[in-house]
Amino acid sequence: MTKKFFISTAIDYPSARFHLGHAYEKICTDVIARWKRLQGFDVHFSTGTDCHGLKIERAARKAGKSPDKFVNEISEGFRELCRVLNISYTDFIMTTEQRHRKVAAKIVKQLKKNGDIYKGTYEGPYCVDCETYYTEKDLIDGKCPVHDKKVETVKEESYFFRMSKYQKSILDTIKKNPDLIWPEGNRKQIMNRLREPLRDLSISRLNVKWGIPLPFDEKMTIFVWVEALMNYLTTLDYPGRKFREFWPAIHIIGTDIVWHHTAIWYSILESIGIKLPRVVVHGFINLKGEKLSKAKGINIDPVELSKKYSTDALRYFLIREIPFGEDGDFSEEALRARLNGELVSDLGNLLTRVLTLVEKYDGKIEPISESSPKENLNYNLKNKLISIQNKMDKLELHHALNEIWNLVREANKFTNRRVPWQFEKKDPKFGDTLYNLLEALRIIAILVSPFMPETAEEINKQLGTKPGMLKDCEFRPGPFKGRPKKGRYLFTKVK
Ligand SMILES: [Zn+2]
Repeated sequence: MTKKFFISTAIDYPSARFHLGHAYEKICTDVIARWKRLQGFDVHFSTGTDCHGLKIERAARKAGKSPDKFVNEISEGFRELCRVLNISYTDFIMTTEQRHRKVAAKIVKQLKKNGDIYKGTYEGPYCVDCETYYTEKDLIDGKCPVHDKKVETVKEESYFFRMSKYQKSILDTIKKNPDLIWPEGNRKQIMNRLREPLRDLSISRLNVKWGIPLPFDEKMTIFVWVEALMNYLTTLDYPGRKFREFWPAIHIIGTDIVWHHTAIWYSILESIGIKLPRVVVHGFINLKGEKLSKAKGINIDPVELSKKYSTDALRYFLIREIPFGEDGDFSEEALRARLNGELVSDLGNLLTRVLTLVEKYDGKIEPISESSPKENLNYNLKNKLISIQNKMDKLELHHALNEIWNLVREANKFTNRRVPWQFEKKDPKFGDTLYNLLEALRIIAILVSPFMPETAEEINKQLGTKPGMLKDCEFRPGPFKGRPKKGRYLFTKVK
């Protein structure tokens, strides 16, 4: 049976239009998903929108729309973003869907049945934007630590989930599984917080109408944060066959929601007896050192960038420039430098140069036995591929991409060393040189395909070869199996 792999982005909160941060999370997740497919995994990749809650209700009212219409429209924008960025998700889930209402109700009932839910009164500071209750000490000058905005004080009847009951076992599991939360800094933070007294979690809202009714007390809705997390089970048709095949997940999320995805989500899963998923945390993108924030007018539109520089250039840049798991800075100058230097000069020119030489050559494109193996482009290739795979396994996406780029640079150096434009047009050495370069390009197309899928497709088209898998990353016995024909430039310089 094909090995299964489930990866998810967080579901986005459609209270406003997307920004570059949303694009970044989707691109990172897509790169990992595509890489897994290259390894031969059957990948389930979910993304979507988190549609309920007070904040949405208010935003819809402000826009003069019904919440339903409002979330549909904004979710359409997120789908469009995925199309533009070439995100290969297999499921786009909206929490307003019937399938999700069913799963959420089912899980909450299960929690109740397990004796993990009781009724009480909640009182405390609440940030509408986070949809989160805080304790006094979380606040900074009485304001929400995330939004720097005044919190509301709420007192209401509520159902609580016995999160404290699972505190110790979760902490133990995280301790025993160093990879469960990545990177290590986030793991440590969560462990430290789990060592402090933990309050039970209020899981219902009396005054929020826009949500999923609490199955055992329908005048209330399920707290949006709790219900949203359950989308990861909905997307696998929990508890059906797909769930049994694909769980546990890898959740790719931002630093602001690690607590929800570990302490809260893990407790719920422990209660209903489901294996804990891996949580992988990416950093934030800053603009000249400042956090992207609509409120402060610091915004970058990924669709505009993609139009201006090409989707692949944007994807390449974000992965290459920002060490995965850390915060990074965005600037158009840096993007242009990588586009004009690495993409146009290193890769684009290599392809064009090789295919121009192919047109000049008049013989068989095949290796010659006397050419020394050390000089050839497949020399030590196996070890290089192992190293790239290692980097991908360790989620060092930027390092993996850098090593792939070394292969591109080696091919350029090889061309300059062999000076094939000086060969006679029937010289077998010419054929050997082209064989090396075409095979290298074919392998480069495979390796860059998770990062730049359109570019890989275009390289294959011009080489006249089929898209390959990781196992195809070795030189095949000659002659070159393809019908190379020069096509369009892969990339265009932007001044
Ligand atoms: Zn807040």
